[in-house]
This record gives sequence, structure tokens and C-alpha cells, in this order.
Amino acid sequence: MPILWKSLFSYYKEKQPKKWKQLLFCAFGGNGKAQLPKNIARLLYGKDLYGSVTRFEQYAACQYAHFLAYGLRLRERQEFMLRSIDIGNVFHKALCIFGEKASKLEGGWHGFSQQEEEVRIRLTEESLIETLQEERIPGAKELLNDTARNYHFLERIRKMLQKTTEILVYQVLKGTMEPSGYEINFSKMKLPSTKILLSEQESIHLHGQIDRLDQTKQEPLAIRVVDYKTGKKEFSLLDVYYGLQMQLMIYLRAGMESAMQKEGMEDTEETKENGLGTYTAGAYYYRIDDPFAKEKEPEENAWRDQLKLDGISNKKETMVSIQDQDMVIDGKFRASASSDVIPFAVTSKSEIDSRSSLIADSEELSDLMDYVQDTMVRFGKEILDGKMEKNPYKKSAEDTACQYCNYKEMCNPKDPMQEGTFRILSKQNVPEDISTWGKTKEEKKEDKKEGEE
Ligand code: SF4
Repeated sequence: MPILWKSLFSYYKEKQPKKWKQLLFCAFGGNGKAQLPKNIARLLYGKDLYGSVTRFEQYAACQYAHFLAYGLRLRERQEFMLRSIDIGNVFHKALCIFGEKASKLEGGWHGFSQQEEEVRIRLTEESLIETLQEERIPGAKELLNDTARNYHFLERIRKMLQKTTEILVYQVLKGTMEPSGYEINFSKMKLPSTKILLSEQESIHLHGQIDRLDQTKQEPLAIRVVDYKTGKKEFSLLDVYYGLQMQLMIYLRAGMESAMQKEGMEDTEETKENGLGTYTAGAYYYRIDDPFAKEKEPEENAWRDQLKLDGISNKKETMVSIQDQDMVIDGKFRASASSDVIPFAVTSKSEIDSRSSLIADSEELSDLMDYVQDTMVRFGKEILDGKMEKNPYKKSAEDTACQYCNYKEMCNPKDPMQEGTFRILSKQNVPEDISTWGKTKEEKKEDKKEGEE
């Protein structure tokens, strides 16, 4: 807690105990409808909001949880989180090092098709060791200490990592795209999408890093982003609609901007007309899975299917083909084909199987990126207006914001648990046509004109 707040806290506690109790009640036990006066919100947050996409996703989950985390800056105790965070960091770092090593092979990742399996296994092993030797991952180095417990834990990580690189290489080799960047820190690159204007004086400064950016080697330029996940998170349009999952769309825009910056490309007529979705093949999570967690290890093909990328794909034949060449034959979708790289399948009549595919056309992908950007603007303005309502979401009895919340113990959980306090998120309220989600084309053109003036 900053010194100013500590002093205020002590002052009220000592000199005005009645007021102090009222303030505490307002902060921790109020009826949840409270809104901070704008000037207090300005004092708490400043005029610019800094943070990762997660910050705004937390606001989408429950405004009050965001207030406690970023307004009062109450943090959970680190020791409860340490182990799982470290494993996630170890995997992210090891996969980044592996990617860089693979890019240096002759032919890059596609060079694996000419190499013995031992090369991938060796690079994976080296990447893990280099990761564990790094100082900046807490607890990682200790894993190299020669104890029985460490040995078993390390073996588990090693096996998971070997399986992961095996699948990742398989996925890359099935298409023609090549990984071209790892842990891309888009805030350092000062990309346009990282500074989101809220008003003339206020803005959001986003930071974060894209785990992997893949790109076509030949014209036309096309990119996809891949985010490595150690949890169970699945891509869901419902979550995107309600702002709970904005990360992939923000990363997709940032990835596109960074690729264009690298290639020295200006906006083309197509991007001006249809947005950055023109050149995007898709945005995905890759879930790092643990073979030991299953009772029986799945067969090789089942593994590939279970670990295929999870996200949204551009439905154009060329965009699907650059990700999985088996899906397209003579420029058309191959009848009854089902990809084990991306969530995409084709019916016996060579049409896209909408039940097994999560797809959008280039324009819809642009719409999604714009929608998410507009959602961030809305959230940013609300935060600076002082919104801090207890409004946890509820998707089902098992899936509510309170269930995963770190502040359950202190925010009088009985209140939010009562029916009626929850915001019910339902699929029925999500329009099927993505292009109707946000602003109309005319409104967007109007915004663009205003921005250029
Ligand atoms: S426990 Fe529920 S209501 Fe309280 S801050 Fe967390 S999500 Fe919000």
C-alpha cells in the first residue's frame, strides 16, 4: 500500500474512528452498488491505466474484484501460488528457447522434416536445462539439486515438454507457416494497439507478450498467434463477447502490427477497407498437457487431436491450407477432412462443418479485434468513472467469478452468492453474427475519420 494511503488509513483509524468504520464497510462489506466519486477514482488509478489484458478481463469478471486488486492493490499471499506459477514460467521460457533454437536450424522449424527425431529431443533437453539455470524464475534452479523429490518432479516436466515440442513440431510441419517470433514484448515495440485512447487526457497502456507468432514465408503475408497455456482455459466466443477473454484478439492485432512493422508494410487498400483480419490466419491457445495426469496415455493420433490448437481460424481455403495442407486439395476443401492442427472440419459435401469448426472470415476477424478494442475502451472509461460494483458473472452453478476469486474470504461472500447478485451470462444473448457485435461499418468509418482529423 502506498505511503499516502497508509497515512490516511492510520489518520482515520485514530482521529475519526466512526468515519474509518464507514470507509472500511464501503470498501470491504458494502452492498456492492457503490461507485467511487470520479476524483477519488483519479487519485486511485491516475489518468492513465497501465496493465496487461488480464487486468481488464478481471474487471469484466467482477468490477469489485478489480477495485480490490488495482484500486486498493490488495494482493493474495504469494506462497499459495508459487509452485504452479513457476511451472508455467518454466514451460513458457523453455518453449521460447526451444523455438529460437529451432529457428536457427537449416530450414528453421521446417528443417525438422529432414532431421532425425533425436535433434528435437536434444534441443528440448537443452532448452529445459538452460531455463532451469536462469536466475529469474524463482525456485527453478533448485530443481537441479539432486534429491529424489526433485528427480521425479523434473522427470514429469521433462516428459511434458518432450510431448509438447513433439506436437508443436508436428503442427508446424503440417502447414507452411513458420514461427518467426517468441515472447514478443509488444509494449516495448510501441505498437499502435498498445496505447488505447479513452479521452484527450486519458488512455490505457497495455503490456504483455505474445508467446509465438507464426508467419508465411512467401507473399501474401499471413500471421497467426499462439499462446501457451498450462491451465484448462478454452477459447469461447461467449467469453470474448462479455470481455472475459480479450487476450487472443488483442494479441492478434498486436501480432499483425508487429509483422507489418517488421516487413515495413503500410496499410494496404484491403486493410483500409477490411481491417487487419485480411492477413490473419487465426489466433489460438496451445494447452500444455501432462501425460501423467491421465490414467492411460492416449494413442499417438488421439494425442494430436486432443492437443490441437484451440481458437478461431480464418475460413478462407488459403488460410486453412497454410496451417494444415491436408485440408485443401486443388484449392478446395477436401471432403470429410478433419484437422488435427486447428479446430476445423469439412463435411462429405466439402463444406465447412460448422459443428466442429470455430471460424470467421477476414472481415469478421477484423470486427472481433475492433469489438475487443472497443470493450477495453468501455471498461477503461468505467474504471476511471469509479465503477466498483459487486457484479460477479455466472455461467453455470460451477462457473462463477466468485469461485475463482482471491477475495472470497474478505468481501462478504454471502452477498454475491445470493441469486440476483450475479450477472448471468448466457449463450442466447450472444448474437450469432459477429459483425453485429460492435459498431456498424458506418460508425467505424466515422471514428476513423475523427481520428485522422
Ligand atoms: S468474491 Fe465474488 S463478488 Fe467478491 S470480489 Fe470476488 S468475484 Fe467479486
